[in-house]
Amino acid sequence: MKLSYYCAATSCGKINYIKVNADNRYDLKDEIGKEFNERCKHCGKHTKKHINRLYAEPNSKIIWISILITIILSIAVFIASKKYVILLVYGIPLIVWKTQIAKAKNFNKLMID
Ligand SMILES: [Zn+2]
Repeated sequence: MKLSYYCAATSCGKINYIKVNADNRYDLKDEIGKEFNERCKHCGKHTKKHINRLYAEPNSKIIWISILITIILSIAVFIASKKYVILLVYGIPLIVWKTQIAKAKNFNKLMID
């Protein structure tokens, strides 16, 4: 899961990203603890925040991979000229995209005490 937070330095305040294995804040607590302490990639200052202040983003990499697979499948289907399958294939990125959005939404909804 890709998580975003804003730099605490008032002169900076830029968005940063961290990558974690956790899919929700409870797992995140086990992974990195209740608070995180990260160095800003823009100004180098450390930001210490509660993990409830971390927000998930849909994984754009997975979405792009699914689009790529769709293109490859479309070409394969075109060669095989079974047109009805094309419609099915185009559903894949849409499903992947929706799944990614739902995953990020679920993460952001769940707060820990
Ligand atoms: Zn900064």
